[in-house]
Amino acid sequence: MTGEIISVGTELLMGMIVNTDAQYLANELNKYGFNLYHQSTVGDNMNRLVEAIETAMDRCDLLILSGGLGPTEDDLTKEAVAKYLGLPMVQDEQAVKDLNAYMAQRGKTITPNNYRQAEFPAGAHILRNSCGTAPGCVCETGGKLIAVLPGPPHELKAMFESGLAPLLEERMDSKFCSRYIRVVGMGESAVEYEIKDIIDAQTNPTIAPYASVGEMCLRVTAAVGKDEDPDALVEPVVQKICERLGDYVYSTHGVTLPRVVEDLLKQQQKTISVAESLSGGQICSDLVEIPGTSEVLLEGAVLYTDEAKIRLGVSQETIERFSAVSEQTAREMAEAMRRRSGSSIAVATTGVAGPGPDAGGHPQGLFYVGVADEQGSVACEFRARGSRVRVRSTAVLYALDCVRRRLLGKL
Ligand code: ATP
Ligand code: MG
Repeated sequence: MTGEIISVGTELLMGMIVNTDAQYLANELNKYGFNLYHQSTVGDNMNRLVEAIETAMDRCDLLILSGGLGPTEDDLTKEAVAKYLGLPMVQDEQAVKDLNAYMAQRGKTITPNNYRQAEFPAGAHILRNSCGTAPGCVCETGGKLIAVLPGPPHELKAMFESGLAPLLEERMDSKFCSRYIRVVGMGESAVEYEIKDIIDAQTNPTIAPYASVGEMCLRVTAAVGKDEDPDALVEPVVQKICERLGDYVYSTHGVTLPRVVEDLLKQQQKTISVAESLSGGQICSDLVEIPGTSEVLLEGAVLYTDEAKIRLGVSQETIERFSAVSEQTAREMAEAMRRRSGSSIAVATTGVAGPGPDAGGHPQGLFYVGVADEQGSVACEFRARGSRVRVRSTAVLYALDCVRRRLLGKL
C-alpha cells in the first residue's frame, strides 16, 4: 500500500517553521508498512490544494493532510477535500457539542467562525481532538483513505495515535519493523565493502546504510505479516553484520554512543571525569543530556590554553617537549583529571580544530584522545576530515568510543 503526505501551510512554504509533522507521519507510516514515494507542501490556497490532492490520490492508497483545520478563512484543508470528493460540508452535532463544552470549560466565548471547525465533508469519520479544538476526519473513496489532521504537532501526534492508527492497523495485512545498527570508527566505504555481499543478497529484511559525521547507521528493515514476529527475520541478519564489523558496532538497537558509555559505566559501577581541550565541553554536555548522569559523571573541565593544562597537572616539560597536541599531553590530561576527580576513568581530548594548521604546524583535524583508569593510561591518534564543526564532532564521538573500548577491555 502506498501512503502520501501533504503538509498545508504558507508558513511551511516560506521556511518559517520546520515540517516536523511530515517527519513524524512518514516515520509512522513506514512502521505500518506503507510505501512512501511522494511528500508535498502546499500553501493556504484552495486551487493549488485541490490540485495537490488530485495528484496524490491518483497514485496513493492513503493520503494524510496536516494543518489548516482551524477556524480562520485561510484554514481550508477540509473544504479542499470536500471539493475534491464533490461533497458538501456538513456540520457534525457531536463536534459542535465538544466545541461548546471546550470553550465553556475555559470561559471563552464562541465566535461564529469557530463552528467551521465542526464542519466536515459529508459522511466523514470524525477524529476527536484531545489536545485542542479542531477535530480531524477520515474520508473513504474508492477503497482509498484521505485523513485530515491538525497542524500543531502535539495535536497531530495524539490524533494519529488514538484516532488514525487503529484504523490503519485494521486495514494492514503486513507491517514493517526496523532495527538500527550503529557503527563508529569505520568509514562509510569500508563498512559497505565489508558487508556488500550481505546487503546485495538481502531482500527481506533490506539493509540501508546512512552516514553521518564520524559514524554510520545501518537500518535493517523487515516486512512481516501482522501477527508475525519481525525479530525472526531481522535478528539473524543483525548478527551476521555484527560478526563482520566486530567491535566497530556499538549498538544494535539504535542507542546513542553517550548512552552506551553511560550504561557500561553503570553496569560496571564506575565513574568518569572529562578533560577537554578541542572538544570544548561537548563530551560533558553529551553525557549530561542523558537522564541519570549524576550516577556516573563526576566532573569535567575545558582546558584550552597550555597554562590551563599545566594547572590541571600536565607537566610543563611535556608540553614544551611534545607540544599540547600530542599523545603525551592527552595522556597526562586524562591522568591529572582522574587524580583530581577521583573517578574510575578519565578521558581527555587535545587537537587542531582548524581552520588550517596550528602554530606548531600540526594539521587541521589531527587530535589525540587520552584515557586513564586504574590500569594506567593510553592515548590514540586520529585524523578527522572536514570543517571545524566536523572535526570537533568527530573528536567527541571518538573520545566516547575510546572510553567504550577501554571499559570493554579492548583498548
Ligand atoms: P490551528 O487550529 O492552530 O490554526 P491548524 O490545524 O489550522 O491549527 P495550522 O494553522 O496549519 O494548523 O498550523 C498551526 C500551527 O501548527 C503552526 O503555526 C505551527 O506552529 C504548527 N504546524 C503546522 N503545520 C506544521 C508542520 N507541518 N510541522 C510542524 N508544525 C506545524
Ligand atoms: Mg490554522
